[in-house]
Amino acid sequence: MERFANFINGADAPPKGDAFLDNVEPATGRVIGAVPDSGAEDVDAAVQAARRAFPVWARTPAAERSRLLLRLADLVERDLESLARDESIDNGKPIALARRMDIPRAAANLRFFATAILHTMEESCTTDAAVQAASGGRTALNYVRRDPIGVVAAISPWNLPLYLFTWKVAPALACGNTVVAKPSELTPVTATRLMTLVHEAGFPPGVFNLIHGAGARAGQALIEHPEVDAITFTGGTVTGATIARTAAPMFKKLSLELGGKNPTLVFGDADLNDAIEANVRSAFLNQGEICLCGSRIFVDASIYEEFLAGFITRVKALTLGDPLTESTEQGALVSRSHRDKVLKAIDRAQEEGGTIECGGYAPAPEELPERVRGGFFVCPTIISGLNASCATNQEEIFGPVVTVQPFAREAEAVQAANSVRYGLSASVWTRDLSRAHRVAAAIEAGTVWVNGWLVRDLRVPFGGMKDSGVGREGGAEALRFFTEPKTICITVDQADNNPTR
Ligand code: NDP
Repeated sequence: MERFANFINGADAPPKGDAFLDNVEPATGRVIGAVPDSGAEDVDAAVQAARRAFPVWARTPAAERSRLLLRLADLVERDLESLARDESIDNGKPIALARRMDIPRAAANLRFFATAILHTMEESCTTDAAVQAASGGRTALNYVRRDPIGVVAAISPWNLPLYLFTWKVAPALACGNTVVAKPSELTPVTATRLMTLVHEAGFPPGVFNLIHGAGARAGQALIEHPEVDAITFTGGTVTGATIARTAAPMFKKLSLELGGKNPTLVFGDADLNDAIEANVRSAFLNQGEICLCGSRIFVDASIYEEFLAGFITRVKALTLGDPLTESTEQGALVSRSHRDKVLKAIDRAQEEGGTIECGGYAPAPEELPERVRGGFFVCPTIISGLNASCATNQEEIFGPVVTVQPFAREAEAVQAANSVRYGLSASVWTRDLSRAHRVAAAIEAGTVWVNGWLVRDLRVPFGGMKDSGVGREGGAEALRFFTEPKTICITVDQADNNPTR
């Protein structure tokens, strides 16, 4: 059984209280490791190391920071196979998915921000004529410096462990901040492996520190630490509210990427086969444990029956099983308690009058391969017959559960799509170009896909409206978030008062 350590000031650091939490393999239910149950003392050691490393890292040339991040990306790619296996065992996701998506995207995050910092320019502007007149004929050149903020706390969830971990730390480090990162206690493995690679890549001690532990203890100590200047958090909306409550009175810079209850709208003119295939992915990829998964499908009444029949057939054909088997498409949910929460949500949907069209239960042990009979599995579940305002359609389930409902008019579909407190993403399926633009503009979400899903370009802003978050990350937005702008205004005397010239 592996015993993990924190990574502080360039070296492994066991938790000061010598307390550990079990790390459980979701597919088997067996304890496979011990994760530090870090407390405030461990957090303080990590933050102090980051604080000490900050002045030198902040002044390190961007080209050198870039070189180290690119080296780290190369090492992640070199170890792709073992990292994908670790991610699959730790999270329960199919190994094929970890190999195809999680780990390559982690390397892509590192590479993207390593090079982004080499291609940015500071902004400048010259004060315009009207203002010049008001200031006695003098003009001014304004330019904006963007300096690193200081120590950044990066807190990431369990669903895409290394992918979302790198999404936060890569831009923070690239911009010259030092980092204390805390992955979810449920999925500590790939972040730990990454620190070995950070050491191998040659990052200076203290620039990139890792703290393990429970959110309520280690996470809370981190966000309330007075030497932490900025917090980037991805996780649930309830946790996001707790973090905001703590950070706001301390005036820490804050970016929150939170939960979603994303709608998919399928119009009568959509390519039905494409729409069905995409909905199988968008509802059930990673067992539905992606914040961008579409969990409410609204289908034009004219094609509803045909869509539903085709969708059910495809979902029933998904292969659920051992995540380490190459052909597995549906793995285990991340924990026993999350599996129970998802099953409870399915019970509630039935109490609300929903019809289970397929799935709706945890497979019996004898339905599963022998190695994973103790695992936390739920069959992909489609529910029909619910209205848009019931709890099933309002609250995030974050598992392999999707609802399908017909609509008669475009306006009705848009209203239902927007009737939740979340606003993270949406997908619209139509071949009518005007409708695509109109509906995309009307939907309250940070990202709207038209005839697609999860097509991600790292240059565009990413984040949520309403209770799905505050602020945007991605591309230039991330570089803005992780730097402190300073305007320098240089007055230029336009009149030439020097007769000797
Ligand atoms: P949680 O909010 O439970 O946890 C997220 C992280 O915050 C974990 O590392 C957790 O630690 C930590 N944490 C918990 N409490 C505190 C606290 N008081 N102070 C500081 N840190 C704390 O989310 P989940 O891990 O359950 O992830 C699932 C959620 O994440 C879903 O709601 C999903 O929609 C959302 N999500 C959003 C994304 C987006 O981009 N908008 C992307 C992916 C997921 P620990 O786990 O150790 O308790």
